[in-house]
Amino acid sequence: MHTQRILVTGGAGFVGSHLCDRLLETGAEVLCVDNYYTGSRLNVAQNLSNPRFELLRHDVTMPLYVEVDQIYNLACPASPVHYQFDPVQTTKTSVHGAINMLGLAKRVKAKILQASTSEVYGDPTIHPQVESYWGNVNPIGLRSCYDEGKRCAETLFFDYWRQHKLRIKVARIFNTYGPRMHPNDGRVVSNFIVQALKGEDITLYGDGNQTRSFCYVDDLVDGLIRLMKTGDEVTGPINLGNPVEFTMKQLAELVLELTGSQSTIVHRPLPSDDPRQRQPDITLAKQVLDWTPTAPLKVGLMKTIEYFDGLLKAA
Ligand code: NAD
Ligand code: UDP
Ligand code: UDP
Repeated sequence: MHTQRILVTGGAGFVGSHLCDRLLETGAEVLCVDNYYTGSRLNVAQNLSNPRFELLRHDVTMPLYVEVDQIYNLACPASPVHYQFDPVQTTKTSVHGAINMLGLAKRVKAKILQASTSEVYGDPTIHPQVESYWGNVNPIGLRSCYDEGKRCAETLFFDYWRQHKLRIKVARIFNTYGPRMHPNDGRVVSNFIVQALKGEDITLYGDGNQTRSFCYVDDLVDGLIRLMKTGDEVTGPINLGNPVEFTMKQLAELVLELTGSQSTIVHRPLPSDDPRQRQPDITLAKQVLDWTPTAPLKVGLMKTIEYFDGLLKAA
């Protein structure tokens, strides 16, 4: 078998850059495609001297003609601050991006994996969320460009599978954190850590009793690679996330404890359509992928704190 040629769209982003690192370790050739909307060349700088790594500035809403064996489609801003900054572009990236990458996969007969999201469940009315749940999404709200864009991308994946017999894999990714998160992207883990390290107020939205379940990025990347390796009968959608659930108040307190910061917790208004609770049911991932996240929140947070500490000291 020849060396696998793997395309990672959004490969200069937080998750994508870790995925590129890991795929290179397996001996594959990696083509990283990114328009640097939220990602950065710095995230993949460690790979630039690797002859099996190639970096291309490209927007996935435009057609792309390359020859590859596998496609991981991660291109899309993921934090509310960024995806709401240019919501029309967000929907275009998910929908036109999916069409182009599916068209590419169809032409070159590549396996293709979509980075979908727990946001397809919206503000869920069942808990924890299972893949068979259809979701509770507002189609016209501030988060809709992301949620509905991702839902439409899933529709396209399943229609290309039914209509054109494409080999598809859909991962529904739950909140993920770790080094290389964008320090200003407004997500809760990066916000709290940066605020704690700078001695600024910790901004807790609402009463802080809303919950999330956080997965360390290395665990997530392992799940994505396992999913790509499955036989053609496995399409997903399949939840990937860490089922250990915390309130945002607990997270704020843990970050304060781990950083030893003197920052104080202040309350800010809850953004609209903010889901009250979120926890993945990962029964399917355990069964089909033999996958379960291993990094405890404290351990993952310490690595993330170290990363941001280095970043702030260098600035
Ligand atoms: P990120 O913003 O760090 O990475 C996204 C990357 O896509 C960036 O490098 C950005 O520049 C690039 N991009 C955006 N629009 C593009 C376009 N039109 N053409 C080419 N590149 C484009 O976010 P992330 O956290 O690494 O998320 C990666 C993927 O995983 C996204 O699809 C996201 O929806 C999904 N996801 C992430 C999480 C999470 O908690 N991090 C949760 C669920 C789903
Ligand atoms: N496409 C691409 N690279 C390819 C093949 C297709 O970017 O190697 C894009 C192209 O822009 C096309 C889209 O994917 O519009 C969908 O392709 P498909 O073959 O499904 O449909 P069609 O070409 O009929 O529009
Ligand atoms: N959040 C918060 N303070 C912040 C940023 C976010 O309390 O500075 C809350 C936010 O309201 C949400 C949770 O943390 O309830 C997770 O937010 P994030 O944007 O990280 O992810 P998502 O809402 O997309 O799950």
